[in-house]
Amino acid sequence: MSKLVNPHGQTSLRPLLLKNKERDEEIKKAVKLKKIPMSSRELSDLLMMGMGAYTPLNGFMCEEDWKSCCLDLKTAEGLFWPIPITLSVKKSLGDSIQINEELSLVNEKGKIFGTIEVKEKYSIDKDFECRNVFNTIDTSHPGVEKVFNQGAINIGGPVKVIDEDHYPSSYKGLYFTPAETRSIFKQNGWSTVAAFQTRNPMHRSHEYLAKIAIEICDGLLIHQVLGALKKGDIPAEIRVKCIDNMVKNYFVKGSAIQAGYPIEMRYGGPKEALLHALFRQNFGCSHLIVGRDHAGIGSFYGPFDAHHIFDEIPSGSMETKALKIDITFYCYKCNGMATGKTCPHEESQRLHVSGTRFREMLVNNEEVPKEFSRPEVLEILRGFYQQENM
Ligand SMILES: [Zn+2]
Repeated sequence: MSKLVNPHGQTSLRPLLLKNKERDEEIKKAVKLKKIPMSSRELSDLLMMGMGAYTPLNGFMCEEDWKSCCLDLKTAEGLFWPIPITLSVKKSLGDSIQINEELSLVNEKGKIFGTIEVKEKYSIDKDFECRNVFNTIDTSHPGVEKVFNQGAINIGGPVKVIDEDHYPSSYKGLYFTPAETRSIFKQNGWSTVAAFQTRNPMHRSHEYLAKIAIEICDGLLIHQVLGALKKGDIPAEIRVKCIDNMVKNYFVKGSAIQAGYPIEMRYGGPKEALLHALFRQNFGCSHLIVGRDHAGIGSFYGPFDAHHIFDEIPSGSMETKALKIDITFYCYKCNGMATGKTCPHEESQRLHVSGTRFREMLVNNEEVPKEFSRPEVLEILRGFYQQENM
């Protein structure tokens, strides 16, 4: 019998996407409301709420929750939540908004995705938020930059989601809600499931990481970021193809499932690792694979900060656990895949290929070591890079 972890907050899943008649009525109402533009990050958070990934939140946070999440990693009511989920507006627009007013939430093209009932307007100390969440106020950090670029006023209140059609149709088969992944896991008879977060195509080091998890858990969820990515990242539809081919050729049938979800990375390192584990619990995952420098960027975080933070939070904060794994690579002396924890050899024996070098190899049609990437994956990437450089 499959017995999965509970949704976060010991409750049932709370998807905020309306359905059927309720949705039709909300759409009719929304077109007449004042329109509030969302940033891509805010839209991605709204979509996460729509699908139930941010259970049990019911909307964008008010000031008490914002402050408490920054300072103590929990909402004012004491629910564990490591990064505040907020919506901002420009001051001029904020001044015209009334408390209890209903507003429609739109993307940059004016398409309506949801509505909010404003319970509070507040201005935030952006330095305070960034110091607490990102541990820096350096605007070369993309997460910090986004906070500094957001509007001067935050609005908080419950939301209703009326649309989640934001991604190209090629992603349709990937977009599984927490209720859907849970149902798949149950059908497979899985109780323990590890989530592997990725925004890259999977090379052999990632394959190894994923297989360590399969040794321990009943199954694996390869969970792709569909939200906006860093410049130079591989587009999701190419990644999906690569991963499909790797799974088909190198994994036991039925041991791994591929899915995507709409978050936009904040690159918040350890705090973001906690958030990633929290919403994986809603998807039904008992474990999150946390590799070296999970969700980090540049040298803002230590390589194991995202491991240590799971030992620092109060016990009972959430059910999903970190599966902490050191960097993985092929070692010529070990003559196999290994990790920083298991391979005793020098760096010179270990195969590391930087993203830049890898790209160069593919563009120039150079041979890539078979120990680095599977041929089925390379073929797809070669096609992509060569077309891109034409
Ligand atoms: Zn070795």
